[in-house]
Amino acid sequence: MRHDVIVVGGSYAGMAAALQLARARRPVLVIDAGLRRNRFAGASHGFLSQDGQAPAAIAETCRAQLMAYPSVDWINGQVESARGQDDSFSVTLSTGEEQHARRLILATGVTDTLPDIPGLRERWGRSVFMCPYCDGYELEQAPLGVLASCDTAFHMAMLIADWGPTTLFVNDACTLDAEQEAALSRRGVALETALVTAITGDRATVHLRDGRAIPVAGLFVAPRTEGSALATHLGCEMEESPTGSFITTDSKKETTQPGIFACGDVARASGSVSMAVGDGALAGISAHQSLIFR
Ligand SMILES: Cc1cc2nc3c(=O)[nH]c(=O)nc-3n(C[C@H](O)[C@H](O)[C@H](O)COP(=O)(O)OP(=O)(O)OC[C@H]3O[C@@H](n4cnc5c(N)ncnc54)[C@H](O)[C@@H]3O)c2cc1C
Repeated sequence: MRHDVIVVGGSYAGMAAALQLARARRPVLVIDAGLRRNRFAGASHGFLSQDGQAPAAIAETCRAQLMAYPSVDWINGQVESARGQDDSFSVTLSTGEEQHARRLILATGVTDTLPDIPGLRERWGRSVFMCPYCDGYELEQAPLGVLASCDTAFHMAMLIADWGPTTLFVNDACTLDAEQEAALSRRGVALETALVTAITGDRATVHLRDGRAIPVAGLFVAPRTEGSALATHLGCEMEESPTGSFITTDSKKETTQPGIFACGDVARASGSVSMAVGDGALAGISAHQSLIFR
C-alpha cells in the first residue's frame, strides 16, 4: 500500500489533517474535487492571520505549504465510492482509478441549498450570508434582514441585532411563540410576516407578496446542508441538526467506524474556516497515532 492515509476533500480541514501526517513523514494522499464551500465569497473573515483574504488565496497558500512535504501526493478529482475496514480501505475516483490506504479521513464539507426565492442564490456570499461572525462586521451597522428557513431563525435574528437594526422575514418558515416574540422585540427586531417573493438590487431588496419592498444591506439565511454520501455508505453514524445531518465523531475526530476519521463542516453542526482547520489538525494527529497504537 503506497499511502498510510487518504484524505478525501482537500480544503481547509483536509489540508490541516494532511499537514500533521506530512510532518510525521507519513505517506498521505489528498483527493479533492475543488468545490470549497466559501468559493462564492470575495473575502474570508475571522481566521487568525488571514482575516480579509480571498478564500482561494488562503487555500493556495495552504496547498503550497503542504505540497512542500515530499510524502504528500495530491489528486484533483472526485471520489465516487469508498469501502473497506480499518487497515484496508479503497476509494474509487470518477475516472475509475482506485487508491488504497490504512486509514481514511473524510473532509468533504457540505453543500448548501437555499430557499427557492428568485434572486437569492445569485447574491450568496455577496449580500446574502449565513454567518454574522464571517460577514456581519463589514455591513457597517446598516439595516439587515434574516430570512427564515427553519426555526433557527429566532436564534439568528436575536444575534444579528448586534450587527445592525434587524428585520426577521418569517416567510411561513418558522414559528414563534409569545415569549420569543417578546425577546425579539426587546432586541429591537422587526417582524415581517408577508411572504417573500424575490430579492433584487445591488445589495438585497426584499420584495413581499403585498407589494412592499424592504432594502437591507445584508440578508442572513440558514441554508439546508448536505454532506457527502460516502460516510453513510461506509456505515458511519450520523447526527441531525436543524439544518441537516453531520458525521458523528468522538473527541479524537474518529467516526463510529474504526479507522475512519472526519473533520470540518461534514462532521459538525455548523462550522467556519478556523474550526475546520482545528478539527483537521486533530483528525490528522489522531489518524497518525492510530497507526502506531493499535
Ligand atoms: C458564502 C460563504 C461564506 C463563508 N465565509 C466564511 C468566512 O468569512 N469565514 C469563515 O471562517 N468561514 C466562512 N464560511 C464557512 C467556510 O466556508 C466553511 O466552514 C469551510 O469551508 C469548511 O471547510 P471544510 O474543509 O470542512 O470544507 P470545504 O471548504 O467545503 O471543502 C470540502 C472539499 O472537499 C471536496 N470534496 C467533497 N466531496 C468530495 C469527494 N467525494 N471527492 C473529492 N473531494 C470532495 C470539495 O470539493 C471541497 O474542495 C463561509 C461559507 C459560505 C457558504
